[in-house]
Amino acid sequence: MSSKAFVEDVMATAIARNPGEAEFHQAVREVVESVAVVIGKNKSFADSRVVERMIEPERQVIFRVPWMDDSGKVQINRGFRVEFSSAIGPYKGGLRFHPSVYLGIIKFLGFEQIFKNALTTTPIGGGKGGSDFDPKGKSDMEVMRFCQSFMSELFRHIGPDTDVPAGDIGVGGREIGYMFGQYKKLTNTFTGVLTGKGLEWGGSLVRTEATGYGLVYFVTRQLQDLGTDWKGKRVVVSGSGNVAIYATQKVHELGGTVVAVSDSGGYIVDESGINVDTVKRIKEIERGRIKEYVDAHPSGQYFEGWEGIWSVKCDVALPSATQNEIDGKAAQTLVNNGCIAVGEGANMPSTPEAVEIFQSNNVSFGPAKAANAGGVATSALEMAQNSMRIAWPFEEVDSRLKTIMNAVYDQCVAASDAYGMKNDLVAGANIAGFMKVANAMVAQGLV
Ligand code: NDP
Repeated sequence: MSSKAFVEDVMATAIARNPGEAEFHQAVREVVESVAVVIGKNKSFADSRVVERMIEPERQVIFRVPWMDDSGKVQINRGFRVEFSSAIGPYKGGLRFHPSVYLGIIKFLGFEQIFKNALTTTPIGGGKGGSDFDPKGKSDMEVMRFCQSFMSELFRHIGPDTDVPAGDIGVGGREIGYMFGQYKKLTNTFTGVLTGKGLEWGGSLVRTEATGYGLVYFVTRQLQDLGTDWKGKRVVVSGSGNVAIYATQKVHELGGTVVAVSDSGGYIVDESGINVDTVKRIKEIERGRIKEYVDAHPSGQYFEGWEGIWSVKCDVALPSATQNEIDGKAAQTLVNNGCIAVGEGANMPSTPEAVEIFQSNNVSFGPAKAANAGGVATSALEMAQNSMRIAWPFEEVDSRLKTIMNAVYDQCVAASDAYGMKNDLVAGANIAGFMKVANAMVAQGLV
């Protein structure tokens, strides 16, 4: 079978078995297109149908999450956990709480997680979960009651050696705390069942910063390969959550200037450089909106609508909000404005058309499953510290994170070179992650 026929055959099955899950189809297509060449050259992968098995989650759980709001009214949400692959370690991947969550979003994220986790060089499988619950505008007590109800079902499916969830959109330290508390009560154990925990109760230093810092370490390598560095670079970062905040902080430390950040309502442009402390206060402490930034900084300007951020001229773009936030038109605008590098902080923030535009215009493109792997890699370091019941200092975890991001980059380059796709980090990330998981699957037989 030709590579093209193989891709279409796998996709036909994926679409028929997972109807209406557009984001999942998109994520599968990208990986299958990259690895078709590997299958063509490896009979054991083809014979044991590793790709066809990989796109089918090992287990999917969907459950009811009833809870009571502050006015005494009963609310019902839907919870998900998709345990995609345990070939190289316990299922690992975050929980997303956002009204847009449905099975297709969780499956796209869980599928991507398999390859990302393999790239980290740590022994973790792939999974993802979440709910269509929206923490925005809810009181702390409402969030607590929701998290307790959510964990009252999830606890029977997870465990420190089985499945270890973490945060994602809408799930930060507060939510992890409430879920950890409920897990501990239900199981009467104090274990590393969740990552992103508070520092006083099993968390790891650097985990909060890890995805943003790791993203910048990865893009540092992209810039090096272009013969340059962060000094004097204008940078646009979308989002203003966990990933965006710490990416901005690290860019500033390395001599670049982040001139724009956003939330789902609009974006801020501050030519004097975004003040990270203000963004932290608004988004992490006050849980407010990014437009409040201009109250503290008259140098900043607020624009309604999140899409416009990609028209802000920049050398480097770090999309760090959500999936499919850069379409073909936005990508072309970035290219026309002289953008030389893109690093994906969010998961799948660029549409396939946008990726094609970046790559055909020689924009260095760092795909999510490699560029944002620092978060889950540091979660794996949190798991290691929990198992040993010790806590490493900040510098040690940060140095391990840097080493891992360099290893992720090197693997992408080596795999893309080996298969004749030089400079294609998308193919490199997919192939390198895939090889590790596929080899484990062949070794472990039909399970
Ligand atoms: P947060 O919830 O901390 O922040 C999300 C940010 O993105 C907020 O500013 C939010 O704005 C904005 N946003 C969310 N949805 C939309 C939307 N539909 N349109 C426009 N803006 C939106 O999440 P994280 O920073 O943790 O996650 C951001 C991305 O990074 C996600 O794709 C996530 O999967 C990915 N990621 C996160 C990791 C982590 O360790 N946290 C690890 C690897 C990847 P608003 O406040 O208005 O909702």
